[in-house]
Amino acid sequence: MKRKICPCCGYFTIVSEDETIVDICEVCFWQYDAVAHDKADQNIGANHISLNDARDNYKKYGVCKEEFKNMVRKPLEDELPENN
Ligand SMILES: [Zn+2]
Repeated sequence: MKRKICPCCGYFTIVSEDETIVDICEVCFWQYDAVAHDKADQNIGANHISLNDARDNYKKYGVCKEEFKNMVRKPLEDELPENN
């Protein structure tokens, strides 16, 4: 199955062939949301945070929202950009 890149952390964690993907990235806890991805500076959709803010948080805390920091894990070998 083809993996999709998570727009927040940049690892290939999203595994779904469905058009309406509702997968949550296990590395940064971002919920895959095509609408929010097109409007990265707006707080819309299921994440209740803009994608740009989520990316900043991932750089700072290693998670899209600090409150989820115990929910995430390190990326796996086959989720690394060089393996996709
Ligand atoms: Zn992610």
